[in-house]
Amino acid sequence: MEQLIYLDNAATTAVAPEVLEAMLPFFCEHYGNPSAIYSFASESKAAVDKARTVIANAIGAKNEEIYFTAGGSESDNWALKATAEAYASKGKHIITTKIEHHAILHTAQWLEQNGYEVTYLDVDADGRVNPADVEAAIRPDTILISVMAANNEIGTIEPLKEIGAIAKAHSVLFHTDAVQAFGHIPLDVDEMGIDMLSASGHKINGPKGIGFLYIRRGVKIRNFVHGGAQERNRRAGTHNVPGIVGMGKATELAIANMKETAEYETQLRDYLISRVLEEIPHAVLHGSKEYRLPNNANFGFRFIEGESMLILLDQNGICASSGSACTSGSLDPSHVLLAIGIPHERAHGSLRITISRETTREQIDFTIENLKKIIVRLRSMSPLYEDYVKKNA
Ligand SMILES: *Cc1c(COP(=O)(O)O)cnc(C)c1O
Repeated sequence: MEQLIYLDNAATTAVAPEVLEAMLPFFCEHYGNPSAIYSFASESKAAVDKARTVIANAIGAKNEEIYFTAGGSESDNWALKATAEAYASKGKHIITTKIEHHAILHTAQWLEQNGYEVTYLDVDADGRVNPADVEAAIRPDTILISVMAANNEIGTIEPLKEIGAIAKAHSVLFHTDAVQAFGHIPLDVDEMGIDMLSASGHKINGPKGIGFLYIRRGVKIRNFVHGGAQERNRRAGTHNVPGIVGMGKATELAIANMKETAEYETQLRDYLISRVLEEIPHAVLHGSKEYRLPNNANFGFRFIEGESMLILLDQNGICASSGSACTSGSLDPSHVLLAIGIPHERAHGSLRITISRETTREQIDFTIENLKKIIVRLRSMSPLYEDYVKKNA
């Protein structure tokens, strides 16, 4: 195989060399338990505190509002299940959207099986939630609104500030799954009226298995993992010190380079989008042109089966995705594409390309050339395409 072209940065990212370097001393050298009293543990404790400060500053929060978890999925589970329990006496209604990550959707379904009612809001053809729909869905027994900051499949950025203002006006809690947005676009919990926010290390060149949940001071939320007194009694378990240090370093780098990275990625993304739409017939862009993550492109190709496209790209060393990593392997079309109105048969022909600041123009050119050949080849084998060509001849 030739060189590896990694275009699946929404699924996970490489750990940055600076991040690894920051983590290494916390395995064999400063391995003390940050909860211990003796001075040997003070290095680990200071490192955890430092990471917490960096992360809190990145979203305009206070240190004591950041709770480390084992990743985005845990943060999402915690935010929903533990507020549902803590606010059950006020009501049992939750509002979310049809395009959330499965960490939210499957948690919401679990809550439905346990006596809660969930409204799943529709989105427009770009994948955006209409804030007026959020407001219209609020009832006296609504306790929580959970809307993602940016979608992991089609890259659409949601109107958080507008939704946050509505939540506040109605005294309903507002949670956002910001796993794809954190470190990529500016987020400010006060400005956006966010009460809880989930993020994950491995989507921002940090390690896997570490994330955090921001919980605004004053929000009642039950603890999620019972045990020791870590994380102010709310999330027990010895701190994952190397992971926390890595997440802190990754956050520091992402924030420091955010503007530059976004400019670079946006330019390369738009180059990719315009070439694909111009050079490949029957191709469409899924998601918003205006409100889009800098690193995301998601295409639909008619008369193509997404899996076959991915296998042929893989044979040329190109890693891409046809939806989210979590749904691949199943034959169900993406719930996100269905929610934006893509018919079943077309939802199967989608391709998600998510770049990074390491992606080069040459890699994108190589990918486009390959994609063009692959699509011609797959269409030449498609009876549907043959019918289409005959009818339109
Ligand atoms: C990746 C992802 C998650 C899950 O995060 P993990 O750290 O892998 O558990 C949740 N939500 C979104 C939007 C994601 O992209």
